[in-house]
Amino acid sequence: MSLSQWTAVDNYYNNLLLPEDDILDKVRQSAIDAELPPIAISDAFGKYLELLVQISGAKRVLEIGTLAGFSAICMARALPENGKLITLEYEQKNADVSRDNFKQAGLEGKIELRQGAALSSLQDLIRENSEPFDFVFIDADKENIPNYLDLSLKLSRKGTVIITDNVVREGEVINMDTDDEMVKGVQKGNEYISKRSGVSSTAIQTVGEKGYDGFLLTVVE
Ligand code: SAM
Repeated sequence: MSLSQWTAVDNYYNNLLLPEDDILDKVRQSAIDAELPPIAISDAFGKYLELLVQISGAKRVLEIGTLAGFSAICMARALPENGKLITLEYEQKNADVSRDNFKQAGLEGKIELRQGAALSSLQDLIRENSEPFDFVFIDADKENIPNYLDLSLKLSRKGTVIITDNVVREGEVINMDTDDEMVKGVQKGNEYISKRSGVSSTAIQTVGEKGYDGFLLTVVE
């Protein structure tokens, strides 16, 4: 089994199940035009997040790591009329590209982008006594996963769903001698969540056009 086979299967299902989507195509093109790294989630995972937000009935979504706004748009589309998504992004260029994409998608009323280091934006939300979020997607610097989990939980309520992306890293997650700071961040996040009371979690491995990886699903009890 190889990346080309996983990609072919993704293409097969995407062609069958995902409608043509000019907006998302333009978001991907905007990232290429702005020379952003090709690290947005896949089309299939975008649809999966949209469905999860829909299934959970979320009205308030928090995203850590915006890039060009692909995943934010997927999730915001599943929000009700009065729903809101706050997305956190460090890079000015990414923030500018995303804001433009949110406008193009007609979602600028639902999506608020806060530009700056996510750790401090999360602290701001806590200081502001932000209403709890119903759904959280963690997809930024992997070194900070333990902090993002901790702060997200402070902004959660019973039933909040938290998805942490890229927690398998081609299986490197089980290499306890790794020098890779991103893998170490994932491992520390796993350790944190395994010891944390009041949450229920599982990790799902995935293959597809983005290779071999996986995500952590946490629900606040
Ligand atoms: N969720 C996006 C999507 O699928 O469309 C992809 C996000 S990309 C994997 C990670 C993003 O996190 C990048 O845009 C990066 O600039 C941002 N980022 C990295 N470190 C950050 C930090 N400390 N604070 C806020 N954003 C950060």
